[in-house]
Amino acid sequence: MLLRCSQFGFDREKINQRLASLRLSKADHKLAQCLNREVIAPHVNEIVEHFYDALLFHSENQKWLRNDEIVKHVKQTQQKYLLSLGIDFDSEAYFENRLHIGIIHAVIDLPLGIYQSAYSNLIQYIIALFPESIRKNYSDNLALTNFVIKITSLDISLAIETYHHSFMADLEDEVETAHSRESKLKNLAETDSLTGLYNRKYIFSHLNKAIGNAHQYSADLCLLMLDIDHFKKVNDTYGHQAGDEVLKQVAVTITKTMRDRDIVGRYGGEEFILGLINITSEHAKRIAERIRNTIADTPISINEQVIQITVSIGLACLDMEDDLKGLIKRADMALYSAKESGRNCVICS
Ligand code: GH3
Ligand code: MG
Ligand code: MG
Repeated sequence: MLLRCSQFGFDREKINQRLASLRLSKADHKLAQCLNREVIAPHVNEIVEHFYDALLFHSENQKWLRNDEIVKHVKQTQQKYLLSLGIDFDSEAYFENRLHIGIIHAVIDLPLGIYQSAYSNLIQYIIALFPESIRKNYSDNLALTNFVIKITSLDISLAIETYHHSFMADLEDEVETAHSRESKLKNLAETDSLTGLYNRKYIFSHLNKAIGNAHQYSADLCLLMLDIDHFKKVNDTYGHQAGDEVLKQVAVTITKTMRDRDIVGRYGGEEFILGLINITSEHAKRIAERIRNTIADTPISINEQVIQITVSIGLACLDMEDDLKGLIKRADMALYSAKESGRNCVICS
């Protein structure tokens, strides 16, 4: 199938359907030849001039036909268009050509209203040019007039499809851009720019929801507060940039080690907060130990230097009367105890 026909689904069946709906049949080929021979070919320049005079008469159309060069070019195209009007109208090539013309007009943003009224003008002018021999004969005149209306209606119907298609494509582009902008903004609003983890504000709202659910369904929920040990020393020894890199690596390790359903955020500085959903305290303790061990066992290489760090973790499990603030407070106290106990350990509240 030819390019545009395939783009708009004009296979043989759809072509035949369109022709049938406009009542164009094999018998019309003779009328197409007659129209070309008796009306179009002898008057093609005249029709084109009249067409553009009428079009340019309205000042709002002048912006589409900005300069003489463009007008000259479109007049040549219009000549070719008229000389092929109706010739082999049932061929795929005819449909391809007409769809292509529609696309060009849609792409230059020519309003469909102008396109359609220009056609009405064209039809009237072509009919007015019928020779005396045809006009005098009632049935010939009627048959050729009907043919002009049918064949131009075919072109208009194809043009409308191309306009619709281009409009939809533009709309889809706009929707996609808006979606991607929205998701970028959402991402910026929800995440910490250094580690890519949820930021404090977002993790709080997420945890509040999770706590609400846990209370409602009597489910277990545990909170971990994790703090890098002697991080100030890391900065002092290796520089702030290296410190940033360590924070990023710790974020990666935590994310890899926790379960999919759990949530993690950067609480601030070198502290992280994790919400473990639907979990017993024993299981939460095992996960906390796993995170602590993995971090302690994973040296971080930065600029050919190997930095060994450890973390302390405070664990608190949700009680009946806990809200987020109370739960964080208990996890924080457990973290404080972990630091007091010599760091690199997990303490439960
Ligand atoms: P402790 O084991 O008691 O937690 O000791 P610490 O040194 O980790 O704790 P302290 O609170 O004394 O120091 C935390 C340091 O973390 C100080 C601060 O400059 C550093 N820090 C906070 N945020 C960032 C950051 O985004 N990047 C870097 N590189 N350092 C940060
Ligand atoms: Mg700290
Ligand atoms: Mg610290």
